[in-house]
Amino acid sequence: MDSRPRLAVWKFASCDGCQLSLLDCEDELLSLAEAVEIAYFAEASSAMEGGPYDLSLVEGSITTAHDAERIREVRRQSKFLVTIGACATAGGIQALRNFADVNEYISVVYASPQYIETLATSTPIAAHVPVDFELRGCPINKVQLLEVISAFLAGRKPSIPTYSVCIECKRRGNLCVMVQGTPCLGPVTQAGCGALCPGCRRGCYGCYGPMETPDTAMLARQWSAMGVAPRDIRRAFHTFNAWAPAFREEGEAHDD
Ligand code: SF4
Ligand code: SF4
Repeated sequence: MDSRPRLAVWKFASCDGCQLSLLDCEDELLSLAEAVEIAYFAEASSAMEGGPYDLSLVEGSITTAHDAERIREVRRQSKFLVTIGACATAGGIQALRNFADVNEYISVVYASPQYIETLATSTPIAAHVPVDFELRGCPINKVQLLEVISAFLAGRKPSIPTYSVCIECKRRGNLCVMVQGTPCLGPVTQAGCGALCPGCRRGCYGCYGPMETPDTAMLARQWSAMGVAPRDIRRAFHTFNAWAPAFREEGEAHDD
């Protein structure tokens, strides 16, 4: 009998990019497959085995009544459930519908809107079922994903930083883009990407979502002082992680 922990990977409303981060672990994939039994991973294999599962990785947000029911079944089948990516942890870019009338979107986007059945909102997995750990990013960082899986295998808490992108910039020796006049969300965004965008001399646009204690109001004041218009401040906060409470509220404070 196979004694390895059983891993399942699930997709809800998403682009598949975070699941692909697991397949991107080319050098580590064979070791991973030795350490865990990949029991359900529809993106990677048509051999899909039933639960229960020791660890479920869940990508995507809840946008349909069917998915709201499906995630409850995934939770029932899973000992540990980890959400991966901005869609699963904050509703994703598709949560922009939460600020508008979804029926208006449907009538504009689809040629036959009468066939579309959807909820009015896109919400994170944690709004529907208990979640054991949330891994941020759009997409997630594969090194962080391996850390989460390793921590699960070792029975310890994942070592994932909750400080801001600014710390990573300092470590890389980047010249701060804000002091050069470029608006940047790095001071309020959770680390994990290695300060990718400031490293290319552009501002962070917040794809890892809010850090643990984000002072979004202070950053918005600084952006205003740099001449950024209220509607552009709102747009900056309302992207991939628009429904994360800190970004949602700061964006709404700049409605015009
Ligand atoms: S978080 Fe980003 S990369 Fe991941 S599934 Fe959602 S849209 Fe795709
Ligand atoms: S710098 Fe910001 S926007 Fe760029 S990858 Fe990192 S978290 Fe995402």
